[in-house]
Amino acid sequence: KRPVPSDIDISRSCVPKCIDRLAREIGLLSNEVELYGKTKAKVHLEAIDRLRIQPDGKYVVVTGITPTPLGEGKSTTTIGLVQALGAHLNNNVFACVRQPSQGPTFGIKGGAAGGGYSQVIPMEEFNLHLTGDIHAITAANNLVAAAIDARIFHEATQSDKALFNRLVPLSGGHRTFSPVQINRLKKLGIEKSDPSTLTEEEITRFARLDIDPESITWQRVLDTNDRFLRKITIGQSPTEKGYTRTAQFDITVASEIMAVLALTSSLEDMKHRLAKMVVATSRNGEPVTTEDLGVCGALTVLMRDAIKPNLMQTLEGNPVFVHAGPFANIAHGNSSILADKIALKLVGPEGFVVTEAGFGADIGMEKFFNIKCRYSGLRPHVVVLVATVRALKMHGGGPSVSGITYLIIFQNLELVEKGFCNLRKQVENTKHFGVPVVVAVNAFKTDTEAELQLICKLAKEAGAFDAVQCTHWADGGAGAVELGKAVQKAAEAPSNFRFLYDTELPVVDKIRIIAQKIYGADEIELLPEAQHKVHLYTKQGFGNLPICMAKTHLSLSHDAEKKGAPTGFVLPVRDIRASVGAGFLYPLVGTMPTIPGLPTRPCFYDIDLEPETGEVIGLF
Ligand code: ADP
Repeated sequence: KRPVPSDIDISRSCVPKCIDRLAREIGLLSNEVELYGKTKAKVHLEAIDRLRIQPDGKYVVVTGITPTPLGEGKSTTTIGLVQALGAHLNNNVFACVRQPSQGPTFGIKGGAAGGGYSQVIPMEEFNLHLTGDIHAITAANNLVAAAIDARIFHEATQSDKALFNRLVPLSGGHRTFSPVQINRLKKLGIEKSDPSTLTEEEITRFARLDIDPESITWQRVLDTNDRFLRKITIGQSPTEKGYTRTAQFDITVASEIMAVLALTSSLEDMKHRLAKMVVATSRNGEPVTTEDLGVCGALTVLMRDAIKPNLMQTLEGNPVFVHAGPFANIAHGNSSILADKIALKLVGPEGFVVTEAGFGADIGMEKFFNIKCRYSGLRPHVVVLVATVRALKMHGGGPSVSGITYLIIFQNLELVEKGFCNLRKQVENTKHFGVPVVVAVNAFKTDTEAELQLICKLAKEAGAFDAVQCTHWADGGAGAVELGKAVQKAAEAPSNFRFLYDTELPVVDKIRIIAQKIYGADEIELLPEAQHKVHLYTKQGFGNLPICMAKTHLSLSHDAEKKGAPTGFVLPVRDIRASVGAGFLYPLVGTMPTIPGLPTRPCFYDIDLEPETGEVIGLF
């Protein structure tokens, strides 16, 4: 058999069909499609209204076991499965995936277009700027950050009256409030619309947000793995008159605005969520929002194109929505609700939409169910759980150098069986939600038949609906036909969907349920900062939000070195943040950096433009 060429070579060897042709084929109208060149298009949200009465297709979520740092092939399986269900098994299909962050693309992991003969194409478009959504989020996020520090500075250097006069300037001899200011007045309980009638006390309350700089939870963001931005000091120029403070950057895909994009249900809803985002607490304990800062309208403007899902295609010409890209460890790890909703309508009741939840089932899938499905109201029919021989060998105690397990190229059934504990636990985790689970064993050329068969046998014994080997990386859709058939069967099986917890439970109980039932912890420990936040957010009325754990993806526990299915540990919750606009509380477990760093030899060493052809080389 010929060796499989590099991802970029495969991607380039295939001529994609014109995206407007694909759009027509899948039933989109020309006024619903906005072309970005020949291989990408944005799809207008009006398509949802037009297709309102069309019943939804079958909804499949792809998740995985606890991965090695290289990834175990969830994206590849998502695309391979869609290719198989499409031309090979004759269904209407759609893949809905996340847009990759450029952090990992240039860092350690590479892109996320899938791989081998199961990819989204053209992969250089997919992995790099796409249609600019991540840039829009960076711009919107940093506008909020600039607004916070500028506001603190201006409040500190001006009297109440001067502040008020600048915030509500004279125009044609009158002062008038802008709509966003009228909303702020309402929030303050000041029932007045004429600025000249405000009392001095009301002027002070209106003009001063009185942000406590220590309480600022809003960070600047950048879509680059830049570890030196984890802690910075801002305001060091003399022009800022000594208003310095310690701050930090997060990676853009961890921004609350990314989560808002992924979880929103309409332009109106996005506007509402962008206005509700809490950035800090005032000195008297009130939450300060983007609406208080007057920036929410501008955010909606910056995000108005980003809200439209991006249409691309697989190597075999199936439609793919690429939309939103939150990381799964420090964010909620799922592509957008809007893309899934449009796709479910477009495929029709007999069709399949396959989406992917980031990292292991303990992280991305738990958040898929408890956060994404809670907000979307959509109920998945099947979970596909991706496993690999190499990761199970790592979980069984195989050698590991700086966190990266080198392939053990010789058959070792004992190690596979020992490491199976991780897959068993992840199967159990899917069962908490009552949806049938099909295990997809993603075969690498170094795996032996006996190893692959052993995993399938053990997975079925552990309660999977089915477990099948697949070779879609090497063979495209043809290599995932058995998986496709198993998914079709599972989609007909009774599903008894339930959430893991009730959002009305106290915050600590919700965190404990996730830690004990999904991670296998004995208990949780709230460090003082986390305890303080539980009280603060409960008092501020945010205690009933679902939980988005920020935890390493490299272990079921908080300790990346603990492989397999660890038990008997106490999960430390260091801090909690509130993403009120997105709609979740965000506990930080252990020491989780919210912007990754670069390794000694990052992927960018290999990336270049080919001088002869002008083509991108070195992406994978
Ligand atoms: P995940 O989505 O789980 O992080 P990916 O699908 O991105 O994983 O795959 C991670 C990397 O492994 C990619 O570079 C992909 O091309 C490669 N890969 C996936 N499956 C196989 C396979 N069966 N054989 C060889 N390489 C694979």
